[in-house]
Amino acid sequence: MKIIMLGAPGAGKGTQAKQIAAKYEIPHISTGDIFRANIKEGTELGKKAKAFMDKGELVPDELTCDLVVDRISKPDAAKGYVLDGFPRTIPQAEALTGIRDLIVTGVQTCALPIYENIVHRMGGRRACIGCGATYHVEFNAPKVEDVCDTCGGELVLRDDDKPETVQKRLSVYHAQTQPLIDYYKKANVLVEVDGTQDINVVFQDIVKILGA
Ligand code: ADP
Ligand code: ADP
Ligand code: ZN
Repeated sequence: MKIIMLGAPGAGKGTQAKQIAAKYEIPHISTGDIFRANIKEGTELGKKAKAFMDKGELVPDELTCDLVVDRISKPDAAKGYVLDGFPRTIPQAEALTGIRDLIVTGVQTCALPIYENIVHRMGGRRACIGCGATYHVEFNAPKVEDVCDTCGGELVLRDDDKPETVQKRLSVYHAQTQPLIDYYKKANVLVEVDGTQDINVVFQDIVKILGA
């Protein structure tokens, strides 16, 4: 089971990918999480990636592709994985198909058409500085305000979730990532899920596609 989550920033990719990973016992691989972990650890990759992420731009393909190819060749990914936030460009998609006869068996696009909706989602998103879990102040609130349910860590608004950067990320999405929808439609592997529904309803729709 090799799954790609495709969708605009804030569409719900991370939220759904975590649940898919837990149910089907496959690793959840988020390029955004990998970059943020590298920034936190102060690695060379982290330093390079941060400059792009702060501006709401994509990290260059050269830095991103090798990282993912390495990650999915680890033993825990042998029976599948759910990729969240990769590929985001046509060259990244090509890098993915180029390796070891990879077949994309399922692609979810979570349609979230209205700009205001997206800003609302991202503005309310809170990320745990301890474990990276994500919440939403209205739609997926933690039990105690600003405290992670899982690890007790502090919840913060990501710098790149501020409205100025969200706007930039959305235009980057339209220019560079949206073309992948057609790319995967042509490959007949695209399944669309309505991401504007309640979190649990979206997940039920995904399970209907992937099998119980
Ligand atoms: P979101 O959850 O809103 O989709 P992510 O956490 O996936 O955001 O990504 C945050 C940032 O990390 C992106 O704006 C981009 O700068 C960088 N990034 C993540 N994945 C990729 C990728 N596949 N290619 C290039 N840059 C990426
Ligand atoms: P992405 O990874 O696509 O950028 P996330 O999964 O991080 O998106 O979701 C963005 C924000 O919206 C988070 O705060 C999350 O809790 C919230 N969210 C996710 N899915 C839904 C949904 N179906 N309805 C309402 N809020 C949602
Ligand atoms: Zn936590």
